Amino acid sequence: MAESVELPSRLAILPFRNKVLLPGAIIRIRCTSPSSVKLVEQELWQREEKGLIGILPVRDSAETATVAPSLSQGDHQCSEDCILSVFVFEYCEMISSIAGLGTDSVERNSKSQVGVSDAHKHESKNAQEVIHWHNRGVAARALHLSRGVEKPSGRVTYIVVLEGLCRFNVQELSTRGTYYTARITSLDMTKTEMEQVEQDPDFISLTRQFKATAMELISVLEQKQKTGGRTKVLLETVPVHKLADIFVASFEISFEEQLSMLDSVDVKVRISKATELVDRHLQSIRVAEKITQKVEGQLSKSQKEFLLRQQMRAIKEELGDNDDDEDDLAALERKMQNAEMPTHIWKHAQRELRRLKKMQPQQPGYNSARVYLELLADLPWQKASEEREFDLKAARERLDSDHYGLVKVKQRIIEYLAVRKLKPDARGPVLCFVGPPGVGKTSLASSIAAALGRKFVRISLGGVKDEADIRGHRRTYIGSMPGRLIDGIKRVSVCNPVMLLDEVDKTGSDIRGDPASALLEVLDPEQNKTFNDHYLNVPYDLSKVIFVATANRIQPIPPPLLDRMEVIELPGYTPEEKLRIAMQHLIPRVLDQHGLSSDFLQIPEEMVKLVIQRYTREAGVRNLERNLAALARAAAVKVAEQEEAVPLSKDVQRLASPLLESRLADGAEVEMEVIPMSVNNHDISSAFKASSPLIVDEAMLEKVLGPARYDDRETAERVATAGVSVGLVWTAFGGEVQFVEATAMVGKGDLHLTGQLGDVIKESAQIAMTWVRARATELKLATVEESNLLEGRDIHIHFPAGAVPKDGPSAGVTLVTSLVSLFSQRRVRADTAMTGEMTLRGLVLPVGGIKDKVLAAHRYGIKRVILPERNLKDLVEVPSHVLSSLEILLARRMEDVLEQAFEGGCPWRQHSKL
Ligand code: ADP
Repeated sequence: MAESVELPSRLAILPFRNKVLLPGAIIRIRCTSPSSVKLVEQELWQREEKGLIGILPVRDSAETATVAPSLSQGDHQCSEDCILSVFVFEYCEMISSIAGLGTDSVERNSKSQVGVSDAHKHESKNAQEVIHWHNRGVAARALHLSRGVEKPSGRVTYIVVLEGLCRFNVQELSTRGTYYTARITSLDMTKTEMEQVEQDPDFISLTRQFKATAMELISVLEQKQKTGGRTKVLLETVPVHKLADIFVASFEISFEEQLSMLDSVDVKVRISKATELVDRHLQSIRVAEKITQKVEGQLSKSQKEFLLRQQMRAIKEELGDNDDDEDDLAALERKMQNAEMPTHIWKHAQRELRRLKKMQPQQPGYNSARVYLELLADLPWQKASEEREFDLKAARERLDSDHYGLVKVKQRIIEYLAVRKLKPDARGPVLCFVGPPGVGKTSLASSIAAALGRKFVRISLGGVKDEADIRGHRRTYIGSMPGRLIDGIKRVSVCNPVMLLDEVDKTGSDIRGDPASALLEVLDPEQNKTFNDHYLNVPYDLSKVIFVATANRIQPIPPPLLDRMEVIELPGYTPEEKLRIAMQHLIPRVLDQHGLSSDFLQIPEEMVKLVIQRYTREAGVRNLERNLAALARAAAVKVAEQEEAVPLSKDVQRLASPLLESRLADGAEVEMEVIPMSVNNHDISSAFKASSPLIVDEAMLEKVLGPARYDDRETAERVATAGVSVGLVWTAFGGEVQFVEATAMVGKGDLHLTGQLGDVIKESAQIAMTWVRARATELKLATVEESNLLEGRDIHIHFPAGAVPKDGPSAGVTLVTSLVSLFSQRRVRADTAMTGEMTLRGLVLPVGGIKDKVLAAHRYGIKRVILPERNLKDLVEVPSHVLSSLEILLARRMEDVLEQAFEGGCPWRQHSKL
């Protein structure tokens, strides 16, 4: 830091435009103008001692003096950042830019004396601008000098680093060659003056105040820049009046303020001014800091949002999807308003909407909240299909026209509808149609809906093991959804549909809860008014829904659920019923679905019978319908081909044809061209071929459906060896014929069972084996001596088909028959099938599904059926024409079964050949 210096009486003067150099500050000047270059060369360059020059502020009239000079270039910025470090100002082309100080003008004015006042006026000859010289400046010492590279034009430049030392007063300004000099007097205090001032109590208190403020500023800055405490040392070592200059020099203050600081020759005035400026600076830093903190937080968040929004917009534009979120939410709100929600639900929905509005679309959870509100808006809270005046006669007609037969079932449905007519809110039982697939359960339910004029929705419950499938997942889970019921209601968009709960027997319970118990709540009129779906989380009124259920079997339905339902059994159809259904319902429907009519395809009764016999063996009519559809497809191809084959001729007349009519009826614009007789005989024939119907024959059946899959000889062929018997079993697909095969081989007396058997059927096999072994001699299967039938051999019993799981007790009699046949080596009658459970003592117990089993036997072309005697009552359900085609044989004991199963009676009259 500069000590007080002895100043010469005359100094070369460098004007400093609109800026002030204060003692203690350092500036760097690039001198490029001829006058300044000259000044440097003559006053500073090549001197042993470091030269002194005076820096004098000037104000040109072109500048507005009150505007703070901007020192905006790079490291020369004088802000708090560079406080107390080296203060550097760029002094670029300053002199040359001052009007009138060109070489010529200076020469002309070289003798002129400029009077000095507070604001001296120097008027150059050719200058329009007035330059105001200040009467006070700062002497500066060159700390460093460097010469720039010479330009091609021969011009040189200098870079000078100057340090401000002390104030001086200008007594007189004159020129020396191309630059100015001034006679000056130093304004620095002498040592004694200084000592005197230091005793002044005012000075002491001012000093203390300044130091405290300066200290505070330094702390704030150090904290901000995280620098060490080097600058604090300055406060202790540098005299305070110099410190005041140093501090102020570093602030970005106006030119006027800088001048006033320069003019503060009195140290007390200087220190108090500096204190004021330091304090102001401190306050401004604090305020700026507060604002920055606040703004920074908001900025980073909003900048992020801005960026994401920009990206989203770009993506949307790319996708051509420009609709605004705002509009979307407004549309959603409108939809919600139109949804007629009950008040409490409306309140809840609004709460959710408010939450959604506060969220950003990119926020996690936004989408799920939105989807949820969409569901609330989509659900039919009040919207119902208008129940038209219920006409029982029309309902009956509708049921009849949709379904053949099923007299009892239809009657029960009519009763159900009649009760509803008399008492619309009657809490009648839920109808449950039970029967094999394809017997019309679903279509009956949809006929009920049609008869009531309500919408129909089918909810499939097959395989539902999770309670959440019915009640929905809570919204806290990712990917949560409403349950199937609410989903169904949403799909059908009325609150009073006929809802078919399909396959209620196929729901199972496991660790994920019990769907059946949720169904209980649904079917309970007391509870379903406030059905609680976990996803929806608000109660929904299901009481207006008419529930109808279907099941393949009764047994798996949980008893409490079964208790709520009225079971209506649909056992399956006889071949004759199937034929009628096919002729009256299936064929017209299939033709219609394929755009055909009987004018194009005719399937004669005989052929339908063949399809029933050879290609289907089911209780329902689904496969039959499928086969008929295959025939219709084949016919459609033919018709389409013929249509294409008709060539177009110019002079054609337009004629109506059956195809044309049917197409027109469908609304399609088809024009068929008919060729005049004289043109081409071949064309005419093909043109009319389309109108002559295609009649299905056996050849076509085989071509389209392939070789026959079943025939009546199957049973006879399979029973051709001893050890095979024909049983009747009941499956989910209705009654079935089940063969049982037994064979013997060398072994140790073991019994092998195969064919995916359950425990019950395995036990039946054990019982059968025991019974046969116990009666081996009586049945003459073995002599008294060799009464052990298993001596030296193993028995293997197999139930084809091996891939189908089987269980149940009703194969008891069939197993015994097969074993007796094996040991007696006599074949069982191929035309006889049997069913019945057998006790260890040989009693034949009744079994279930008699009607289905008898129908199955009938389908397989079996002529005689052996049934437990106590099942006689069940035969009333069997259609009489089926019964009349069968010989029903009733058995009380196992011996009765054996008596009927073998040709020529029971085998015990003969000795076993084994
Ligand atoms: P399910 O629900 O019992 O499995 P569907 O109701 O789906 O069976 O019936 C299968 C097809 O058989 C449907 O096209 C249905 O119209 C038809 N169908 C079944 N029974 C009859 C019937 N008695 N009269 C007319 N069509 C029937």
